[in-house]
Amino acid sequence: MTAPDINFLTAQAKKAWPQWRALSFKERGKQLKRFQRLFSSQIDDVCKLMSSENGKPRFEALTAEVLSVIQLINWAVKKAPKILKKRKIKLALLKYKKSYLYFEPLGTVGIISPWNYPLSIPLGEAIMAMMAGNCVIVKPSEVTPLIMKKVAKLFEEAGLPSGVFQLALGGGDVGQALVNSPYVDKIIFTGSVATGKKILKQAADTLKPVVLELGGCDPMLVCSDADVERAANGAVWGCFMNAGQTCASVERVYVHHHIADSFIEKVVEKTKKLRVGKDVAFDVDVGAITYPPQFKIYESQMQDAIFKGAKILEGQTSFHPPFVKPTVLLGTNDSMKIIQDETFGPFLCIQVVYDEEEAVRLANENQYGLCASVWSRNLKKARHLAQDLEAGTVVINDCSFTHALSETPWGGRKMSGMGRVHSEFGFYELVHIKHVNEDRGWFKPLWWYPYSERKYKLFKFLAKLLTLK
Ligand code: NDP
Repeated sequence: MTAPDINFLTAQAKKAWPQWRALSFKERGKQLKRFQRLFSSQIDDVCKLMSSENGKPRFEALTAEVLSVIQLINWAVKKAPKILKKRKIKLALLKYKKSYLYFEPLGTVGIISPWNYPLSIPLGEAIMAMMAGNCVIVKPSEVTPLIMKKVAKLFEEAGLPSGVFQLALGGGDVGQALVNSPYVDKIIFTGSVATGKKILKQAADTLKPVVLELGGCDPMLVCSDADVERAANGAVWGCFMNAGQTCASVERVYVHHHIADSFIEKVVEKTKKLRVGKDVAFDVDVGAITYPPQFKIYESQMQDAIFKGAKILEGQTSFHPPFVKPTVLLGTNDSMKIIQDETFGPFLCIQVVYDEEEAVRLANENQYGLCASVWSRNLKKARHLAQDLEAGTVVINDCSFTHALSETPWGGRKMSGMGRVHSEFGFYELVHIKHVNEDRGWFKPLWWYPYSERKYKLFKFLAKLLTLK
């Protein structure tokens, strides 16, 4: 497609919207469940397609994408009627008046998504938007458009009314046209910080609200009392799954010096055992790098890290696309590009710290704030550390998986973006929150005309009275 095609898509969405929004939650849910059953009957084809297009092992396509979307549909269908139901607000003072909240769909929601999770990101967001009564236009990354094409076909087969779910297929210019369109009511963007900033600036012209789910450089804090075996397994999986091309992958490990030696030894040993390559017979742990320009970033970050003193304990420094051997670096520090920026590849950076306080300080001294993890046998301590971390999500004794929990909010702080997807907070991003206040008209409010000194004194008395509360 080209940018002008967006006009056609928005017109189709506008046509479909009145009927779609008029449906009850139950009816919209029925249609999405029909899609879910069809989708579920083709799990093997879907995983195979995702693996061949994106390079990830089919196991990851199933667990991180297919399964999480199937569960998200169940959650959204069940919870939307409760979360988005008209509700009464108890008024503190004017008891004779009544206030209600109504959650009204926005209209057309534009969803712009990246190539690393080409199914679970755009489809999860689309399901929630549609359940809330919106029409959606999804622009998948042009690097991985096939899986969403398959999804669009399944929606059609499931009988979803035309115009409710549409694809904008094309590159950045098509995404830009979606952002610029006066007929798109909100943009949910997932991608890089650079594109996120461009979108925020463009959206200012139409004063369009945006949710920005951007990059991360997630820290992992391994405390002196951590279960070392579990933490090492967690670090290896959290960093190398999806070949490290995960916004919430573990990138920076801060390990307490008391347990550093045994932790590092285990991490290296487990990394050596990972099987890298193309998924032929479910015999691969780490798949391919999806987007070749990533290799330039890896080379530059690795050269910089080695030049500044990092040691490679396992892995490689020169690359032969499309695979990268999972790589473990020791002695990284925050002067290095690999620590300052998102790597988006299978590189695990370990830094030994004196204590947990130092770990928290280093963890927070970073431009990103998406997720973080704390590893300790002492939950009380771990909870305390979790509160000190500047992140949208903190996971204790696990990592990198909570995007799959549709009932929990997902989003970051600082350069990791703004707004939330999933959970009730994600639903609130997809509606107008309308307040309606009612009065039966029995009394004339005292603050209306005419003003007088007597009334002034009365309200002053009230102000004093409220101060005493
Ligand atoms: P990009 O920012 O390059 O692209 C994301 C999407 O935006 C793509 O569909 C892209 O199209 C489109 N796009 C590009 N330029 C514009 C523009 N000017 N206006 C509108 N849309 C545009 O990100 P990547 O695809 O490289 O994805 C990797 C990034 O995504 C990483 O930084 C990663 O951390 C982040 N991410 C964040 C997540 C989160 O939840 N916080 C989750 C997953 C990834 P096209 O590809 O066709 O050029």
